[in-house]
Amino acid sequence: MKYLIAHQNRLILADPELGVVLDRIDLSLSFDSEYEIERYPVLPGYELVRMSEVPGSAKVVDLRAELERSDPFQYQLLSRAQQLLNWRVNHQFCGRCGGGMAFGLTEMVLKCTDCGHHAYPRLSPCIITLVEDGDRILLAHNAKFTPNRFSTLAGFIDAGETAEQAVAREVKEEVGVEISDIRYFKSQQWPFPDSLMLAFFAQYAGGDIKPDGREILEGRWFTKEELHTVVLPPKFAISRALIDDWVARQG
Ligand SMILES: [Zn+2]
Repeated sequence: MKYLIAHQNRLILADPELGVVLDRIDLSLSFDSEYEIERYPVLPGYELVRMSEVPGSAKVVDLRAELERSDPFQYQLLSRAQQLLNWRVNHQFCGRCGGGMAFGLTEMVLKCTDCGHHAYPRLSPCIITLVEDGDRILLAHNAKFTPNRFSTLAGFIDAGETAEQAVAREVKEEVGVEISDIRYFKSQQWPFPDSLMLAFFAQYAGGDIKPDGREILEGRWFTKEELHTVVLPPKFAISRALIDDWVARQG
């Protein structure tokens, strides 16, 4: 059995070979206890436990760096663990009546012990899109990015909106251009904190690039040859998969 230990909203990998003695820990479900610990089913062979102190022998990992090194199975494991952790930490009380929450016995759910309200693990659907125009693609510099980093456009799907409507709206809002021919690519869980990224390609259909100046500071067209002049998203991110797919199609 391997363990993922959640501590101050960070994940730590540990297993018995590393000398972590889990049977010394009080199995209280209270968040107030000195050694608070909760167990979640994560994936076969793994458990997520929540502790107030990190065992000295535990291997502390940076989640982004760990995801970058991960194979698809490990990526799913770490992403799921992080999302379940965020969900549990952020649902300590019922959103309807303020009562206490307890785990359901037959499915992954938190149920209010007073009114019975159900809270499932939170997923926030987002779109992410690469706008193409022949031999060039539109990438943008987000206000949160490190200097010279460019990526595809992304945003949360609004209430009542289809994914395709969100793609067109976000592109218009963030860089001011029109698009057409929106095509689904694939999806990825992104545990910062709980996004389900739905990736699309879209064709440029008109308008000049006008960054919104708030979220997006700069938008620019890039040919395949120009991509090496900027910092692109990391290999494990679906934004990079969109770009790499386009590059491969350029021959
Ligand atoms: Zn309630």
